[in-house]
Amino acid sequence: MISPRPAWPERLRYFTERQNGIVNTIRELVEIESPSDNKHAVDLIAAFLAQKFKALGGRTELHRSNNFGDSLQIDFAADPASLHRKPVLLLGHYDTVYPLGTLANMPCKVENGRLHGPGVLDMKSGIALILHAIEALQAWHGGALPRPVTVFLVSDEEVGSYSSRKITEALAKQSAGVLVLEPAAGLRGAVKTARKGVGEYTLRVKGIAAHAGLDPGKGHSAILELARQIAEIAKLNNLRQGVSVNPGVIQGGTRTNVIAAEASVAIDVRIQRATQASALDRKLRSLKPFDKHCKLEITGGINRLPMERTTGVAALYKKAQTIAREVGWKIDEAAVGGGSDGNFTAGLGIPTLDGMGGVGEGAHAVHEYIVISELPRRALLLAGMVESV
Ligand SMILES: [Zn+2]
Repeated sequence: MISPRPAWPERLRYFTERQNGIVNTIRELVEIESPSDNKHAVDLIAAFLAQKFKALGGRTELHRSNNFGDSLQIDFAADPASLHRKPVLLLGHYDTVYPLGTLANMPCKVENGRLHGPGVLDMKSGIALILHAIEALQAWHGGALPRPVTVFLVSDEEVGSYSSRKITEALAKQSAGVLVLEPAAGLRGAVKTARKGVGEYTLRVKGIAAHAGLDPGKGHSAILELARQIAEIAKLNNLRQGVSVNPGVIQGGTRTNVIAAEASVAIDVRIQRATQASALDRKLRSLKPFDKHCKLEITGGINRLPMERTTGVAALYKKAQTIAREVGWKIDEAAVGGGSDGNFTAGLGIPTLDGMGGVGEGAHAVHEYIVISELPRRALLLAGMVESV
């Protein structure tokens, strides 16, 4: 039997009444620390979440990884009348950037309507929203979901998604659309309809070592060469075109009295359009040494192509606007500089809407928090999008 679908304001009330329950779920997840580089810790939260999703009737599958934590796929069947619909893919990650023990100095706590804690915004609140939206949809639709739903929670998003990317892409290809539960943009809670592409390069310089005092003319300083190269690399910035290049970490040299034989720089690059990738790559690879006795070696590349605002992406945003209007909410869209796994799925041409998760500030920072009162609307939006994508 299918119960009549409640109206939007009633649905919002449903989630408002359950706000404390959503907060408790988020707290449970935040209090299981899960740094990307600690497989054991990440596997523990995967197992915990597998139990939660099983309790909702999901079929869970762990995708094993040797170098990273395991990723978790959960499939929900639809009611028999909706089985023909393509699934929607709900995408998230349970790894965080915080090392084990962070909770001691950054406890999960409620203060002034905010919930604080490591990973609370990025993106454990997003995972909690998935759990609560699915539970609500089941309640509203007489026990079964109105379409097949696949949830994929990855273990290594914060470190480049190297173990999970292929699975994310394969699942996206089978889906009608992808909703990414990364944090919303800004405190007005905008969803993200465009993201920059992200890459990382390393430039290594090999020079010739010499005693700085006895043989100053014989050495060829890798550090001096690197300094000149960094000035060249900075010229590749084109902020108006959305291209930015940041030499973020430098290393080199051994002692002050040695002309350095080696030096290197790690460079973060961002691009706005996929077509900018090859030109930037070519320019970096064609850097020439100023000092002919020095050798340059460049490695790396673009990891995530940009998530561009395609017509498919715009159509999903329009659906989100329609749902939001039902409860008197005007939801904004934003283009952001950071990448996510949404870049992979959008890059395949699958309609993707990102920033569907919590609203707050301070991702990756000591003051990370979410605004508790925003949770009911976010859950309502997610549930509505699952129905209509
Ligand atoms: Zn994230």
